[in-house]
Amino acid sequence: MPELPDVEGFKQYLDSTALRQKIRTTHVRDKRILEEGVSASALGRALKGSSLRESRRHGKHVFVRIGSGGWLTMHFGMTGELVYNDGDDEEPKYARVVIELSKGKRLSYTCRRMLGEVGLTDDVDAYLQEHDIGPDALDSKLTLTKFRKSLEGRRGAIKGVVMDQSLLAGVGNVYADEVLFQARVHPQLKIDDLDDEEIGEVFKTMRRVLKLAAKHGGEVDQLPSSWLIPHREDGADCPKCTGKVKKTKVSGRSTYYCPRCQPK
Ligand SMILES: [Zn+2]
Repeated sequence: MPELPDVEGFKQYLDSTALRQKIRTTHVRDKRILEEGVSASALGRALKGSSLRESRRHGKHVFVRIGSGGWLTMHFGMTGELVYNDGDDEEPKYARVVIELSKGKRLSYTCRRMLGEVGLTDDVDAYLQEHDIGPDALDSKLTLTKFRKSLEGRRGAIKGVVMDQSLLAGVGNVYADEVLFQARVHPQLKIDDLDDEEIGEVFKTMRRVLKLAAKHGGEVDQLPSSWLIPHREDGADCPKCTGKVKKTKVSGRSTYYCPRCQPK
């Protein structure tokens, strides 16, 4: 599932391909991908004759400013992706929204499992508020003090807490495991079980992990082999000690950790 680093990769891909080209027309290949209240014709009208000017990533969303006003919103669900290619080429598989650009190019939003969403908004900040999306995990205004404060009164496992998008936008299942592995914190521990230093370590590690992974657009083969992500398999050798990676379930999600590196 695309998380912050992957979505940053989509943003960079979009920025280097489809911006500042006149939009000829937009096809919605499956209306179910549209956000509630946004029709295919409204999307088409908003884009026709205009261009995509700039993009902004927040958590797992990409917002693209439309030259004539407003923003295109994209969430990638489990299987969303962007594909830029020649209009003469075959449309990519699972294309749900296809934007035809001048000079014979096209940008397609593809999503095999249909769990993503495409929509429109006039105001990104209002959109985030309406959808109860918290600060971006890499936002420089999100300080450790603010992070600590937002954890107050939270119950449940630390893993579930860092994946809560209303608290922190961008961290999903895979990167939550990575952060806790590198911070040496057991995923099942509760916020109350953690002291100030451990919370600080989780925060600092989260920033470091996401920053580096975002730089590589979430490409797994670009990540250090000392990370957990390339070893997400039950019984795999832990990249940091002589122990084995263990698979379990935390907050209803498949979770990988090293019982030696992350003692309870
Ligand atoms: Zn280990």
